[in-house]
Amino acid sequence: MPSLSDRVGTFTDSVIRRMTRISNQYGAVNLSQGFPDFDPPRAMLDRLAQAAYAGPHQYSITFGAPDLRQALAAKLSRSMGRAVDPDRELVVTCGSTEAMMCAMMTVCSPGDKVLVFSPFYENYGADAILSGAEPIYIPLVPPDYSFDLSLIEQGLRDGAKAIIICDPSNPCGKVFTREELTAIGALLTKYDAFAVTDEVYEHIVYAPYRHIPMASLPGMFERTITCSSLSKTFSCTGWRLGYIVAPEAVAEGAKKVHDFLTVGAAAPLQAAAVAGLELPDSYYDDLLALYTQKRDHFLAGLDAIGLKHNVPQATYFVLIDISDFLALPRFAGWTDLQFCEWMIRDIGVAAVPGSSFFKEPVNNLIRLHFAKDQSALDEALRRLAKLKELLP
Ligand code: GLN
Repeated sequence: MPSLSDRVGTFTDSVIRRMTRISNQYGAVNLSQGFPDFDPPRAMLDRLAQAAYAGPHQYSITFGAPDLRQALAAKLSRSMGRAVDPDRELVVTCGSTEAMMCAMMTVCSPGDKVLVFSPFYENYGADAILSGAEPIYIPLVPPDYSFDLSLIEQGLRDGAKAIIICDPSNPCGKVFTREELTAIGALLTKYDAFAVTDEVYEHIVYAPYRHIPMASLPGMFERTITCSSLSKTFSCTGWRLGYIVAPEAVAEGAKKVHDFLTVGAAAPLQAAAVAGLELPDSYYDDLLALYTQKRDHFLAGLDAIGLKHNVPQATYFVLIDISDFLALPRFAGWTDLQFCEWMIRDIGVAAVPGSSFFKEPVNNLIRLHFAKDQSALDEALRRLAKLKELLP
């Protein structure tokens, strides 16, 4: 057989999505790949049913159906404190996954450097490789996941073209403060670089924390490519609907990349998504109340078992410290991946090994998500309690 491209040899499949496949194989409670086990709002399902018969079933405009872009622009204009132009500044994509890849291919030429915080959402590694960019990692240091601004300045001084900011952050649940974003923004302006943001958890931010879109800060819209999606906000991860918001010149580039990558997101799903965006603000309050309740319940359950964990400021992820287990003779020399595979088989709960999110050699963390209904979370907690019995 002829050889494959060099490119495909340089990254693995997604560990997050691999864990889902292994979890399904063993019938574990899947707290690995983060997606809700409940449905999108009824209004979206009704609109989807209508679309099944009334259409659209053919291509929408490549960069998004006009009514969806209108609805997104109205929402984004409020959150960004500036009128977002649905024709010139928005590109509807197949999930934020495509949005991020498209953003990277739009702003980076092969060989360009891009700054990436570690821990990071694992897609960014592949995004960098596929766009030819070279990632430079900036550590987010636990317990508060703060960072050293001088490392960002050094990276920009060395010519980095952009910084990727996952805010709120997957997997550590960090919400960047206004001060942090402002300081990063000042450096981006000084060195004339872009922010590429991934804001998919923007509506799952627990009080007293608040999400501030980078693009809403003074002067930052002009150098920010905001990527987000409807997946988490409207519990429709399988619909694959995301978007890019960017200044017109950047959006023009992104439209071209997107057009040749995918032509467009699924037309009937775009039509149905408009119904979600028409919901009143109380929808977002209810979503947050639901996740707040899940977070409090799940973390209290972990505390009752005695598992060490972080307290996420946002997202539906929690990192568990498994150091005490790895110190046991039966797990001597194990990687976190081996531990997660064992957990799926013997405990019946699927997690993601923390190493897939870190540049640093981290082996003592696993990530669980709690976007599950109460009974699934209780079942997971019941199974996780078996872990504690292993400790002396
Ligand atoms: N963001 C989700 C996670 O981190 C998964 C998204 C995906 O698999 N596309 O688990």
